[in-house]
Amino acid sequence: MIQEFRTEDFQQDLLHWFERNLRDLPWRQDRDPYKIWVSEIMLQQTRVDTVIPYFNRFIERFPTLQDLAQAQEDDVLKLWEGLGYYSRARNLHAGVKEVRESYGGAVPDSPEEISKIKGVGPYTAGAILSIAYGKPEPAVDGNVMRVLSRLLVIEDDIQKVKTRKRFETIIRELIAKDNPSYFNQALMELGALICTPKSPKCGHCPVQTHCQAQEAGVQGNLPVKGKAKPPKPVQVSVAFVSDGEKFLIRKRPEQGLLAGLWELPNVEGEQVELENHLVDNHHLEVAGGGQLFHHQHTFSHLQWEMDVYAYRAVKAPLEIEAHWITWEQIQNYTFPVSYQKIFAQIKEFYR
Ligand code: SF4
Repeated sequence: MIQEFRTEDFQQDLLHWFERNLRDLPWRQDRDPYKIWVSEIMLQQTRVDTVIPYFNRFIERFPTLQDLAQAQEDDVLKLWEGLGYYSRARNLHAGVKEVRESYGGAVPDSPEEISKIKGVGPYTAGAILSIAYGKPEPAVDGNVMRVLSRLLVIEDDIQKVKTRKRFETIIRELIAKDNPSYFNQALMELGALICTPKSPKCGHCPVQTHCQAQEAGVQGNLPVKGKAKPPKPVQVSVAFVSDGEKFLIRKRPEQGLLAGLWELPNVEGEQVELENHLVDNHHLEVAGGGQLFHHQHTFSHLQWEMDVYAYRAVKAPLEIEAHWITWEQIQNYTFPVSYQKIFAQIKEFYR
């Protein structure tokens, strides 16, 4: 057991607080594992307030696992547009199809089976098993690691996999066996609302009397987080090629970053490489080429330095791997956030 820790009192204080402060969230209306799965994937790296309207639209369109399993990927991505981290949506879609094919449409309730499903990592597996099925499985995310680091003064680097595993072992000891669903949700909620990254609200904390960091006055130094590498800058040249009322867009490859989304023609490199690319890959003859603006977009691992150039098509090619669309048709396609922002700036430019 964790030494000098009053586990039962801690569980009671935490659960009592959670029951009194339970937020009325759309994925808490029932214990449907499919809806909990969708909500947990959407909530990764994204705030609750942002997720709510996306979740409601998504469930309205795909109310059951079967509905999502049968959907076209483009429709799924369209409903995800603006949430970012699109591989989450593609993996969710693939995972749901796998459940339909291998488990008759019922989300598995064993750790071994659920962990094999595409896109279901240890956190999501634990969240579904505990919240939907009431199993005492750990669901350790960044919030939970922060709270535990402080509660027990654990100085391990939370970016390391072995630290997450250590926290999973600790949760297996601490979890309330009679209500693992509320226990896990309560810890996450405590991290989101009270034990926040900066300035934790210790004066309002329901488990303050159990908190070793607060007692020692070191909560501001925890959790320990190793420095992430800064994103690598990448020069990207982007072409806005117009032909009368229309302009050219194309689909990204089905694998890799932002797979399957739409974009303006572009290359990693300078303008001269972009122009060669328009000729070689899109069989385009263009005129113009003035720079419209620079746009910067940062991912966790790289930073696009995007220079956007305007061209007129002298001879427009057939729509083989690209589409000519009007501004009104833009809503029929799913674009990454970077291109949504670029479109807004282009509109400003021509106004
Ligand atoms: Fe976090 Fe403060 Fe509560 Fe400790 S007392 S768990 S540091 S909010």
